[in-house]
Amino acid sequence: MFSTTDTIVAIATPPGRGGIGVVRLSGPDAHAVARRLIAHDAPLEPRHATFTLVRLPPSPLRGFGGTRNADTTNDIDHVVALYFPAPASYTGDDVVELSAHGSPVVLRAIVAAAIDRGARLAEPGEFTLRAFLNGRIDLTQAEAVADLIDAATPLQARAAFDQLQGTLTRAIGEIDAALFDLIARLEASVDFPEEGYHFVEAGELAAAIDRLIARLGALLVGARRGRLVREGLQIAIAGKPNVGKSSVFNALAGASRAIVADAPGTTRDLVTEVVDLDGLRVTLIDTAGLRETGDAVEAEGVDRARQAQVVSDLTLFIVDRSQRLDPEDILQSTDNKRLIVANKADLPPAWRRDDTVEISAKTGEGLDALRTRIAQALDAEPLADRPELTNVRHIALVQRAHDALGRARAAALADGGSLSEEFVLADLQDARAALEEIAGRRAPDDLLAHIFARFCVGK
Ligand code: GDP
Repeated sequence: MFSTTDTIVAIATPPGRGGIGVVRLSGPDAHAVARRLIAHDAPLEPRHATFTLVRLPPSPLRGFGGTRNADTTNDIDHVVALYFPAPASYTGDDVVELSAHGSPVVLRAIVAAAIDRGARLAEPGEFTLRAFLNGRIDLTQAEAVADLIDAATPLQARAAFDQLQGTLTRAIGEIDAALFDLIARLEASVDFPEEGYHFVEAGELAAAIDRLIARLGALLVGARRGRLVREGLQIAIAGKPNVGKSSVFNALAGASRAIVADAPGTTRDLVTEVVDLDGLRVTLIDTAGLRETGDAVEAEGVDRARQAQVVSDLTLFIVDRSQRLDPEDILQSTDNKRLIVANKADLPPAWRRDDTVEISAKTGEGLDALRTRIAQALDAEPLADRPELTNVRHIALVQRAHDALGRARAAALADGGSLSEEFVLADLQDARAALEEIAGRRAPDDLLAHIFARFCVGK
């Protein structure tokens, strides 16, 4: 399904304009294709920056610079060319990176020219996929690349970078090696039954399995927090029109993205913003005003607002402290995933209640207290250290290995250790299969396709 024999090309830098833009080529012909794109007329020296020109042949059809005179060269930009011969490159193939000015027009012309000269446009994540297929990195490290690029908080970025550096790979690898050793000894017992003794005594076997269970258990303990770091949380901001939802959203987000207006019902769709709330990735969702409405567009918005509240980890239910309170507003908001926020505390109060957090989105009063209350409500312990296990896929597989080892241990001790080793072996093999799947050694193509689809082109 995945080819590694052709040469791929893509813009590696984000869409848009910038000081520098990079076009990356990877594959057996990367160097040859690159040389056909640049003025430099010698082979590129490995890992040396070569300052040169991108020189496209005159092409009346493509017409970049539009010359029709075949004698005139068509230089389109200065570039720095970098050549990384296989296998010491990002992908493990020959790689050439051309750093031009960050102009989408120039970069696209370079990519088009590279395709003309034999390269193929890369699929999303294909550079990283190649690194995985070529054995440069394992699957957890490939996933870490996507996480690092996606990180919204410094803690997320550090956890992803640890994973990219192989912390998880090593932790799992050590457990896997110990498991392998145990399996080998047990298999010896099974293979030589005529020897008449067990290579591994039941008690020793159970103790060895216990040690592995403890190591997996330690990883799982940090997993809830790890998931929190990686995936972050969702907070929906709800309430009746004009109570100040958009203003609270903006005050928490620290940026004015939502529309703040005096006319009720202006926030018709869901507006989201990812913010760093004390190290936690939090997606704030500003919902449309919750009220019955005849307007179809607004009704759709209200419906989505209700859904957002259902899937969110917490709802900030905003009420206006300067207006008379309709008791129904609070009656319907009893669930503990909800924090009642009494906004407009800068205005004379129309009521007061103990179970609310008083703030003013306008003056910023009470916002710090609100952040603290949010952290408490989400039960998010201080997130100072970096969790090893952050990804649901890994967590599920570690759990599967953990459970299989639990069964293996029970089998080892069953009937005073008289049970055949083969029962224990089957569970140990199952545990090992789960661990190997984490690193991607047994990953089926559709899983790989799913994981790499998360990337964008050029990664
Ligand atoms: P939404 O419809 O619930 O999203 O409410 P908005 O955020 O659009 O705010 C409605 C109106 O209330 C706007 O005129 C805001 O300027 C005003 N407003 C919001 N928060 C405060 C506040 O804390 N104090 C005061 N005095 N006015 C506020």
